[in-house]
Amino acid sequence: MSNFDIIKDADESYVAGTYGRFPVAVEKGKNATCYDFDGKKYIDFSSGIGVNSLGFCDEGWIEAVTAQLSTLQHISNLYYTKPCIDAAKILCERTGMKKVFFSNSGAESNEGAIKCARKYSYDKYGAGREKVLTLLNSFHGRTVTTLSATGQDVFHKYFHPFTEGFDYVPANDIEALRQSLDGTVCAVMIELIQGEGGVMPLDKEYVKEVENVCREYDLVFIVDEVQTGVGRTGELFAFRHYGVNPDIVTIAKGIGGGLPLGCVVFGEKTEKVFSKGDHATTFGGNPAATAGAVHILNRLDRSFLDDVKEKGEYMREKIMSMPHVVGIDGLGLMMGIRLDDTVKSADVVKKAIEKGALLLTAKSKVRLLPPLTITYEEIDAGLASMEAALNEL
Ligand SMILES: *Cc1c(COP(=O)(O)O)cnc(C)c1O
Repeated sequence: MSNFDIIKDADESYVAGTYGRFPVAVEKGKNATCYDFDGKKYIDFSSGIGVNSLGFCDEGWIEAVTAQLSTLQHISNLYYTKPCIDAAKILCERTGMKKVFFSNSGAESNEGAIKCARKYSYDKYGAGREKVLTLLNSFHGRTVTTLSATGQDVFHKYFHPFTEGFDYVPANDIEALRQSLDGTVCAVMIELIQGEGGVMPLDKEYVKEVENVCREYDLVFIVDEVQTGVGRTGELFAFRHYGVNPDIVTIAKGIGGGLPLGCVVFGEKTEKVFSKGDHATTFGGNPAATAGAVHILNRLDRSFLDDVKEKGEYMREKIMSMPHVVGIDGLGLMMGIRLDDTVKSADVVKKAIEKGALLLTAKSKVRLLPPLTITYEEIDAGLASMEAALNEL
C-alpha cells in the first residue's frame, strides 16, 4: 500500500465523510509548492480555498503567530488583549470603516452581519422589518441561517426548517431588487464576485445602484468579502474596485492565513448597533490568529497589491492561449476559466493533479486562487502542468 492508501483508509474509518476529496494527501509545503506523502511535488493554485494568502508556512507569519503563541495563546473576551486591537485598527484605518467584531469563519461572520442588520432595523423601526435580500447563485455559508441566505436551491434541502426572512433576486437586475422592497426588508447582502457560484463578477453600475437603493430605503448594505477580500483581487478589498462604501463587510478565508479567523467590519451606520451582550463567540479575536492577521495586513501594502494585479495579468495572458480555454473571469488572483463544451472543469482538475498542479472548480469553470505570494517560477511551473492536463483532454 502507498502512503496515500493508508491515509485514505484511516480517513474513511474515522473522519465524517462530508467531503468529496481529491486523491492527494499533502504532507508539507512552502509558498505555492507542496509535497504529498509519497514525495510528489505540486504547485498550489488553490491556497486552501483562498486561505493561505502568504502561501504555505510563510516565515514572517509563522514568527508572528509563534511569538504570540509563546506569550499568550488565549484568555477569552472577558479580558483585553493586544493583537486583536492591532488587527482591528489596521482594518479600520485601511477601509475607512469604524469597528471590527472577530469571528472564526465566513459563515459566522455573515451570521454576525445578519444579526447586526436586523438589530439596526429593530432599534430604529421596530419589529417587522427583518428580511435580508441576497442574490440568486450566491454563497454565504453552511450554517442553517447562512444556507438560507445562500441563493441556490440545491442548498435548501434536508435541514428544514431554515431560518426565515430571506429573499433572492437575480444579479445585475436593479428593477428586480426594487420590486422586492415590500417594507419588510432591512438589508441587502452581496458578493461582488460570486465565488462558489462560478467566479461571476457583478456589474459596476449595478453595485453602485444597490448602494443607492440601500441609502434611499435605509437598508444595511452588506458586502460578503470572505473570498474576495484581503488582497485577493489586487485591492485590499474588492469594494475598492466598485467605488462603494458598504455598511458591513464580512471577511474570513485570507485574513486567517491558515488559522481560523473571520471579521465583521462595521461602518458608520452600524458601528454602534451591537452593545454589551448582543453578540459573542468564545474563540473570537484569538491572539495567535489575530497576530497572524496583523502580519498579513502589514504585508499587503500598495506595491504588494500591484504585484497581485501583475501576476494576475501574466497568468491570464498565458492561460488564454491554452487549449479549451474560451475566457477568464474575475480580478487579480481570483480567476474563473471558461472552457469549451468538450471538457468538464472537474476533469481538468483531476488531470492537473496527475500533472502536478492543484486547481479548484467553481461550477463549470476552473477556478484559480493562488497564494498572493506565488513566484513567477511557481506560476510558470503550475501553468505548464495545467496546460499539459488541458492538452490531454
Ligand atoms: C467560503 C465562503 C463563505 C463561508 O466561509 P466559511 O469559512 O466556510 O464558513 C461565505 N461567503 C463566501 C463568499 C465564501 O466564499
